[in-house]
Amino acid sequence: MNVEVRAGAQAADDMLATPVIAKIGVIGAGQMGNGISHVCALAGFPVVLLDVKADALDRAMATMDRNMERQVARTVISAEDKAAALARVTTSTDYASFGDCDMVIEAATEKEEVKRAIYRALTPHLKPSCIVASNTSSISITRLGASTDRAEKFIGMHFMNPVPVMKLVEVIRGIATDEPTFQAVEVLARKLNKTTAVSEDFPAFIVNRILVPMINEAVYALYEGVGSITGIDTAMRLGANHPMGPLELADFIGLDTCLSIMQVLYEGLSDSKYRPCPLLVKYVEAGWLGRKSGRGFYDYSVTPPRPTR
Ligand code: NAD
Repeated sequence: MNVEVRAGAQAADDMLATPVIAKIGVIGAGQMGNGISHVCALAGFPVVLLDVKADALDRAMATMDRNMERQVARTVISAEDKAAALARVTTSTDYASFGDCDMVIEAATEKEEVKRAIYRALTPHLKPSCIVASNTSSISITRLGASTDRAEKFIGMHFMNPVPVMKLVEVIRGIATDEPTFQAVEVLARKLNKTTAVSEDFPAFIVNRILVPMINEAVYALYEGVGSITGIDTAMRLGANHPMGPLELADFIGLDTCLSIMQVLYEGLSDSKYRPCPLLVKYVEAGWLGRKSGRGFYDYSVTPPRPTR
């Protein structure tokens, strides 16, 4: 092979080579961001966790400590694994901390304008090779990617809640996402001991396209008086063998997140069957967002949680 041909082949190989992920940034220290940081740190990756709110970062570190302690008690990990993993996580409120990250996973609030503003502030600080993944539950990866300076290195990496427990990661390519980016995410998911399911870039992807309309239907059943909160949850737990009832699950996911997903489905697919239930809207307007705010379909200030209707 002459020198030019060899150089050309090398360049082609480089374009196809799977990027190596050594350091990970996570944006949003809510329930998903702390879970993603938890599994990345336990898998040996240095992690920088960022939030707009410094107190959210303190809470996330305390949650990670508590959740890892539970894994130690169940002998899933050792006390040394826990200490080493926590030591790999640093927190920040400044995007400059992402300068040496190979991948950033955004897990901030499920609002398109919030995510776009984050990417605008984030990308000037990144290496050109840095992959940006969104943990969005429903928003178009193509549209989010197009709002960045690196649509080909932008991808959906949708973890399930709670991240340390749930085995699945949905991987969603935008129209411009390149193959090395896709392969890098597949490799990372395997290192995190997750199984991937590839979804096309349609509103809410696979899991939430099916799951959240079922939750919305359960809220309609409550709204129309078909059953009580306890009745609906018991019926689906014992009658459909679901580990959690749909209203209990809605509280666990966050009612604001459920509503955002229904709005994305309703607007994205222009089909009235995805109309968010007015009662779900009302709960969110009241700030009753589920477990994270202490009250949703259940009141979590008492044990066991008490139905709120
Ligand atoms: P959450 O409300 O628990 O946390 C969101 C965090 O983002 C908060 O700490 C908030 O301070 C932070 N944030 C808001 N604006 C920010 C900004 N401009 N910069 C940095 N941080 C900012 O929400 P969550 O449940 O962790 O969801 C986060 C993302 O993960 C959403 O896209 C959601 O759709 C997705 N998701 C959620 C679930 C679930 O079950 N809750 C499951 C899979 C994916």
